[in-house]
Amino acid sequence: VDTTSAFWAKTNKYLMSTGVPFSPVIITKAQGTRLYDASGRSILDFTSGQMSSLLGHSHPEIVETVQQYVSQLDHLLSNMITHPVVDLAERLAKIVPAPLEKSFFLNTGSESTEAAIKMAKLYTGNFEIVAFAASYHGLTQGAGSATYSAGRKRGGPVIPGQLAFPAPYAYRSPFRKADGSYDWETEMDFGWSMIDRQSVGSLAAFIMEPILSTGGILDPPEGYMKRMFAECKNRGMLVIMDEAQTGVGRTGQMFAFERDGVVPDILALSKTLGCGLPLASVTTTVEIERGCTEAGFLWLTTHLNDPLTAAVGNKVLEIVERENVCNRATERGAQLREGLIKLQEKYWCIGDVRGRGLLQGIEIISDAQTRAPGSELGQAVSDRAMACGLSCNIVNLPGMGGVFRLAPPVTVTADEIEEGLRILDEAFNYVLK
Ligand code: PMP
Repeated sequence: VDTTSAFWAKTNKYLMSTGVPFSPVIITKAQGTRLYDASGRSILDFTSGQMSSLLGHSHPEIVETVQQYVSQLDHLLSNMITHPVVDLAERLAKIVPAPLEKSFFLNTGSESTEAAIKMAKLYTGNFEIVAFAASYHGLTQGAGSATYSAGRKRGGPVIPGQLAFPAPYAYRSPFRKADGSYDWETEMDFGWSMIDRQSVGSLAAFIMEPILSTGGILDPPEGYMKRMFAECKNRGMLVIMDEAQTGVGRTGQMFAFERDGVVPDILALSKTLGCGLPLASVTTTVEIERGCTEAGFLWLTTHLNDPLTAAVGNKVLEIVERENVCNRATERGAQLREGLIKLQEKYWCIGDVRGRGLLQGIEIISDAQTRAPGSELGQAVSDRAMACGLSCNIVNLPGMGGVFRLAPPVTVTADEIEEGLRILDEAFNYVLK
């Protein structure tokens, strides 16, 4: 019996397409940094699942926590508060900078974006939300309105009051000084002049990722965030920091915003906090909590403050602190980056290498002189890498070459990094020859 064609026949008959093509591999087991198909072939997972499995797949302590809680305390009426939930809120309060202090827990990144935006609107009494023009904050209706890197033109009007700000894309920014360096100050002046002209005087918040990941691994230059926060403050806006992918140590610091010496008004975590399980958090200050409550904030979803996933969150943070995950991300990230720069020296089609810690990107070009975007070339390399045993995600935005996102779990070994780099090398070699 050809079980593979039977599987795809069943898939195509019953599983609805959501607009994302299905991967050709059928994974039956995921363990640590590796995925396996039924024949036992292994694929290195350099995307941490959907950028979530920070500590690798099926980390034994997380498996144990799930087993314990699923049989002891799985899920309750949403207003019944349990120990794991309060413990997680306390743990978060201890690792976020003051005055951030109070948290609540949800399931997904989209949900935490929805809640954060709603809070900013209630607290400020305003309704306009600014986001980078290459942002990704989710695809539910409100979050999707603040997302510019995916499918924006489909699905009808977005929620009113959405304004876009130029993303800090140093590699292709038209704002350059005479010496060729990225003139982000002038770009930011331009961005705010556009916002101030378009705003109807109701600016509520700027929602941002500290490194735009789905937007092509855009890491703002040092100094950028400090000035950005000051501009928001001058306009009475809140800053919502979405650390879905960057939070909990991946970039080498517990939170990526810490590099810039800024403190957001609202912090949203998701993917990495649950390490592959559905857990998200929203953290804010006592003052903003009070303002939202007085203005009538209401949030009550089925899995609000669920004990099972909160117990997982506690375990993730315990491991992250105990095993000094930030240092590991810095060390393995430096190794990965060094290897990518060597590939850039070898292959003309790698235009740029960028990122921080274990969130690295390489942008593919189709012409070394003009740096024209090379989306098809990137896809061919990515397909070949997958065929050779490396899963890495590629994002394509208009006007940008395909960008490989490399974000292996922080538990990745030095040997696994070398193996991944070797496969990438083979894939580039194969496609370019
Ligand atoms: N914010 C960021 C920065 C993300 O990368 C994502 C997911 N790619 C989301 C929010 C949305 O999260 P989810 O898909 O869990 O709703």
